[in-house]
Amino acid sequence: MTTTTVRQILEQKGAGVHSVSPGVSVYEALAVMAKHDIGAVLVIDQGRLAGIFTERDYARKLVLKGLSSKEATVSDLMTPNVCTVTPSHTIDEVMSTMTENRFRHLPVVERGEIVGIVTIGDVVKSVIDQQQATIRQLSNYIAGDIAT
Ligand code: AMP
Repeated sequence: MTTTTVRQILEQKGAGVHSVSPGVSVYEALAVMAKHDIGAVLVIDQGRLAGIFTERDYARKLVLKGLSSKEATVSDLMTPNVCTVTPSHTIDEVMSTMTENRFRHLPVVERGEIVGIVTIGDVVKSVIDQQQATIRQLSNYIAGDIAT
């Protein structure tokens, strides 16, 4: 179990999110994803979170259907009902939400504003960091015990 919160993760990685508008072509959205080395972009329409578009949408909804990335728009392929979390959610809660819904990205919303995004990669890193800290503490404890 981990008590780390989304807020702590965002403090480390920052609040930056990459977004596109719904009318841009899938090709342009992929270019944004490639440029920033990310697997998803948020779709913002007139300041409102209108959807999320990820590599999986591209693979399953465009490539397999034989559509063209220069003709299809992001709004054709995005998932419109976006599940979000707040900074006070724990990583355990984020993990359950991602596992239950089978997605790897969760935008973070606080008082109606998007303040970041957590990904499965952030979750895995956080769990590993926490486990390493526990191992260090236990090793120090055991070494201290042996020394006395
Ligand atoms: P992913 O594993 O994040 O690449 O996403 C898998 C599928 O879930 C894609 O169709 C995404 O559009 C969708 N998806 C990803 N994140 C979310 C989210 N936070 N809320 C709703 N759908 C999402």
